[in-house]
Order: sequence, then structure tokens, then C-alpha cells
Amino acid sequence: MDFALLPEDLVLRREIQAFIREELTESIRQDLAEAVVGVGYSPAALEFLAKIRARGWTAVSWPTQYGGQGRSRFAQFIVEEEFHRAAGLGVGGGGTGAPAILAAGTDEQRETFIPASIRMDTVFCQGYSEPHCGTDLAGIRCRATRTGDKYVINGQKIYTTNAQNATHIFLMVRTDPASTRHAGLSVLLVPMDLPGITVRPLWTLQHEPRSPATATYAEPRTNEVFLDNVEVPVSALLGAEGDGWRVVQRGLNLDRVGARRYLISIMRDEDLVNHLKSDAPGTAEKRADPRVRDKVAELWIEAQVCRLMTMRSVSIDEQGLEFNYEASAEKVFAPEHGVRSTEAISQILGPSAQLLNGSPYAIDDGVFAHNLLGAFQSTVNHGSVQVMRDQVARKALNMPRVSNKSESSGNKK
Ligand SMILES: Cc1cc2nc3c(=O)[nH]c(=O)nc-3n(C[C@H](O)[C@H](O)[C@H](O)COP(=O)(O)OP(=O)(O)OC[C@H]3O[C@@H](n4cnc5c(N)ncnc54)[C@H](O)[C@@H]3O)c2cc1C
Repeated sequence: MDFALLPEDLVLRREIQAFIREELTESIRQDLAEAVVGVGYSPAALEFLAKIRARGWTAVSWPTQYGGQGRSRFAQFIVEEEFHRAAGLGVGGGGTGAPAILAAGTDEQRETFIPASIRMDTVFCQGYSEPHCGTDLAGIRCRATRTGDKYVINGQKIYTTNAQNATHIFLMVRTDPASTRHAGLSVLLVPMDLPGITVRPLWTLQHEPRSPATATYAEPRTNEVFLDNVEVPVSALLGAEGDGWRVVQRGLNLDRVGARRYLISIMRDEDLVNHLKSDAPGTAEKRADPRVRDKVAELWIEAQVCRLMTMRSVSIDEQGLEFNYEASAEKVFAPEHGVRSTEAISQILGPSAQLLNGSPYAIDDGVFAHNLLGAFQSTVNHGSVQVMRDQVARKALNMPRVSNKSESSGNKK
């Protein structure tokens, strides 16, 4: 495996960095952070997004046939790294939705959704979790009943992040009422503006007080989505009916290995180092303390491992190979690093680092306190670390399966 980036990829990184220096103002950064609570994007933020789009960076690794740039997954990795680090923005062509449509969609679905995703006219949210099943996705009850040339959908989804801004939901449903577990599940691509769809906010710990834009775990809102006799044509089906389990796996794995995932887990180490290098009160003594220097170095080494694990997965995907245990191993190590790191930071900086914004004694607008509160969520969402460990035990170490239930977790955001 050779992780050296190509000269043209390094040029791409420099171009993006120059663009960000020139175009991303503090107020646009704030507007982008604010948009996640459902206020929509400001004109300045929309203009910034349009400029990203005009440069082709929203679909850097997607096929040219559908309007992408046809570049490598490493080029996409660079785009994702730069925009996430600068503005917490997911840009670069990863995520559920489009990659799964490229892999399993019909020509018509690709032609409809891929160019629209590149223009950002189509944005998917992920409709997997339900109130009674998160890890155990095979327990999905949301039902789609086929009548003639349409499906009628009834059920509820929960923790549907960005449903308030999304144009479509990537919806996992049970199409065969007699089926159990993985069989009989299907994926439907459902417009969010159809009659019968209700989105209700679920506010997170990050909502009150609102996390600062610089916090790495800063999602103040996720949602409940109710589907009440929602009708879609059968052409909304992605892949074959009943094959939904297989259809989602690739998208989920790609979501687990994107640059954004590892950055979420390591950016607070960088916050700490920047803080220790600043002239904030008390930092001079802390940065001279050998125990602090040891800890910071240890965290930095772990952060490099997180990045290398992601690059290994990118390399596997670039070669067209299937993931075995790699995405799962990464989904254990990086989120747990995030928890170790936020706890260490809290000890190094002391009690003030646990104060949220609003307190006169909070450090850096409460960013460390928000990260401490939020780090745990990454160990649960998108496939919990317990379940990912089980997959590593089975797939990397060939250990026997413990029960049928442990096989069932595939998940997600
Ligand atoms: C901020 C946030 C955003 C999210 N966004 C989305 C989204 O956009 N779309 C979406 O569909 N979902 C989303 N989720 C939901 C997320 O995927 C689920 O929370 C996650 O899958 C866990 O499911 P659960 O909450 O039902 O917990 P449970 O499944 O009840 O799990 C609780 C605990 O039990 C453990 N556990 C469960 N089963 C096993 C097992 N077989 N072996 C070992 N341990 C086990 C888990 O590891 C976990 O620690 C989001 C969640 C959060 C927190």
C-alpha cells in the first residue's frame, strides 16, 4: 500500500487551501454552522457553496459521465479533509445516497440523482434507525406495501440527521410483511416534500447552549420522521426488492471511512495544542509540564494512526476491493480516541474546560466542554463500537459468531 499522494493531488490541496483562505469568512463559517438547526443557508453561505460546486469539488471522484471529475478516492479524501477541517462541511462525494445509487441504481436513477447531488439540488438524509431498532437494523418495521405501480409507506424513523434540510430520505423499509431480519428489507429514495411526511426536531446536548462553530461534535439537532400513507412510484426502489441489506452495506462502509469520520475524532487534539501554544492564562506552565507534553505526544501519535487507518480504507476502495474488517476497526479506534482525547484535555486544562459557553470562566467559548459531552455520541452512531468490535472478532480473527442477533448490525449515521 502506497499512501504517497500524487503531485496533482497535492496541487488540489493547495488550490482548496487558497480558496478557503480567500472565500471563507468568519461570518460564513457561523452561517454554515447555524444552518444545521433548520434556519436554512444565508445568501453568503449559498454563494460560498455555489463556488465550491463550480470548481467541481462536490463530485471529485464520481464518474465524468454523470458530471463528476473522475478523479481518485485520494483526491476526494483531500477535498473532504480540507473542507471539514475549515468549516465542518461535508464536501467531496462521499456519504450514503449518491455512492449507493452509483453502485446499485438504474441508469435512470443515476441520471436523475447524481447530477442533482453534484449541484446540491438533491441532499439525502439517512432513514435507518427506528425507535425500537438502532443497532439491530434487521428489526426494521417501517413498512412499504406495494399496490400496483406504487409503494405506500407507513412507519417512523428516528435520529434522522439533517432531515430538516434534506430533499430526499434514503429510506430502509420492510417490503415483505412476512419476512424477518435481513430478508425482505428494501431501500426507497423518497422525496421529503411528499404528503404524509412529518419532520419533528430532536434537540441534542449541543443545542442549549448552542455549541460554538469551532466544536468538532456540534450537531445541535437530529429528527424524528413520521411516514403516514406516503406514496412513491416503484421506480423509487434502489436495487432489487428485498435486497436492501446488501444495498446499504457499501454506503455505510464508505460513510465509516471518509476523512470526516477520522477528523471528527482528532480535531480536538489540535484544539488542545493550539490552546497550549496560545498566551491564554496558565498555558505557559502547562506546556512546560512534562506530563502534559507526554500526553499530547501520545494523543498526536494515536491521531496519526486514525488517519492512516482511514487512508488504508481509501486505498482498498480505490483498488475496487471490498472492505473486510477494516472499516469496523477504524470505527472502533477513532471514536474511542475521541473519548480518550476529550477526557485527557479536560484533565490537562482543569475544571474550566468543563464549563459551557455562557459561563464567564469557560475556555474558548466552551469548545472543550462541548467536545467532552459530544465525543461519546460517535462511539454509538454509525455502528456502535461494541458491534464493530464483534465484526473485527469475526471477520479479522475468524472467531465464531455468538448469536444470530450479533450478525444483524450494519449501521449507520
Ligand atoms: C447524533 C446522532 C445522529 C444520528 N443520525 C442518524 C441518522 O442520520 N440516521 C439514522 O438512521 N440513524 C442515526 N443515528 C442513530 C444511530 O445510528 C443509533 O443511535 C445507533 O445505531 C444505536 O442505536 P440505538 O440508539 O437504538 O441504541 P441500541 O441499539 O439500543 O444500542 C445501545 C447500546 O447497546 C449496544 N448493543 C446493542 N446491540 C448489541 C450487540 N448485538 N452486541 C453488542 N452490543 C450491542 C450498543 O453497542 C450500544 O452501546 C444517530 C444517532 C446519533 C446519536
